[in-house]
Amino acid sequence: MAEGVGRVGFRKWYERELLSSHAYLVLAFLSVIGLIGSMEAFGLGSNYDKVTNVVSIVVCAVVGAWSLRRYLFLLMRAEEVANQANCSACGEYGRFTVVGEDRSRAETEVRCRKCSHRWTISVID
Ligand SMILES: [Zn+2]
Repeated sequence: MAEGVGRVGFRKWYERELLSSHAYLVLAFLSVIGLIGSMEAFGLGSNYDKVTNVVSIVVCAVVGAWSLRRYLFLLMRAEEVANQANCSACGEYGRFTVVGEDRSRAETEVRCRKCSHRWTISVID
């Protein structure tokens, strides 16, 4: 988080996190369509086709579950940071610079660009 915010700023980082998380949501949706299509085709064709359909069902289920998990992780992390992006001294939202990072405690120290107030943003990994 600190690396991304430090490089492009909070607002751009937040926007990119939301876009990438929703790309995973689209992938999960496509996986569900593939899963349904494979299940529907399961009753048709030879045994070889059924093996192919089972493989397709398993792949779609794994990709769908993974992408849904990734979507929720990225979305929750972005929202968690966004909920801590308000400066408590002046109320400015999302305008801060990263001062330091403590990876062992998953905390990032930031400074308000408007009033130079410092606070800590903690994020789950
Ligand atoms: Zn401030």
